[in-house]
Amino acid sequence: MSTLPISYEDVAAAHERIRGVAHRTPVLTSRTANALVGADLFFKCENFQRMGAFKFRGAYNSIAQFTPQQKQGGVITFSSGNHAQAIALSAQLLGVKAVIVMPKDAPAVKVEATRGYGGEVVFYDRYTEDREALGQRLADERGLTLIPPYDHPHVMAGQGTAAKELFEDAGGLDVLLTPLGGGGLLSGSATVAHALAPGCTVLGVEPEAGNDGQRSFQSGEIVHIDTPKTIADGAQTQHLGNYTFAVIRERVQEIVTVSDAELVETMKFFASRMKLVVEPTGCLAAAAVLQRKLDVRGKRVGIVISGGNVDLLRFADLVSAKD
Ligand SMILES: *Cc1c(COP(=O)(O)O)cnc(C)c1O
Repeated sequence: MSTLPISYEDVAAAHERIRGVAHRTPVLTSRTANALVGADLFFKCENFQRMGAFKFRGAYNSIAQFTPQQKQGGVITFSSGNHAQAIALSAQLLGVKAVIVMPKDAPAVKVEATRGYGGEVVFYDRYTEDREALGQRLADERGLTLIPPYDHPHVMAGQGTAAKELFEDAGGLDVLLTPLGGGGLLSGSATVAHALAPGCTVLGVEPEAGNDGQRSFQSGEIVHIDTPKTIADGAQTQHLGNYTFAVIRERVQEIVTVSDAELVETMKFFASRMKLVVEPTGCLAAAAVLQRKLDVRGKRVGIVISGGNVDLLRFADLVSAKD
């Protein structure tokens, strides 16, 4: 018997819970991309998900399972990124109050987006305060339930629904790649692959500058690093979670890394060839294949594009910079 924190049944149950609320995002193909690498690539476009990233899946799956008391009390999380917006939107849809702990210097657009979904933003100083401790203290004081960005079985199971749809829509896959930050997406996806396609090779892709996941995978223990400098802001995590790592070490075959320059090349490819706006973090898995870090010739390859939330001016800067 498996003692892992989530099973395929948990992902299937999550899929029922989010049905009709989350978008079933399209799976796109590109002859140009296929010709470039000599494989059949299937891109799962979570840049088209509600609030712009797969994180809606895990957030909604978590809050939807609150007890009546928890719903009454509200939800809290610490994040300045896509998870914040995912929690705020999911809470709004479920009629639950949301408190989001964000750094004082978080980009104004992110603060506004979170407030736009009805979330209450509480600021902290990222240089002097510990956001996890603050989140936990507020949770205790105000009777809120804390939903962290990745290390929670309900979050992980929700994220896995993207891979479930990819397998259902693309058919058999030899290889599945997802971006890797704290491991919610990868652990959920690997759980699905193990159940639906046991022969499928599952790979996580993280930024070269923040290869804690790769080092953890190789050493068998969770490696902690300083916040890495990378344009992939959704993967600037300092360590994997206990739950996510337990799944990743059992169900994932390899962790590979890509550079920021390779992410930019991939953003350009998506914009010019496929007319897709993808945020840097959303390009991680695709970059490993399109920039030929891996040999996938002759294979059927599933690639999760995890999100599209990038400020338009920043997007323009990144794709027009000369290297
Ligand atoms: C959060 C995020 C990731 C990383 O997901 P984890 O579950 O933390 O590994 C990747 N891409 C985008 C767009 C994200 O928002």
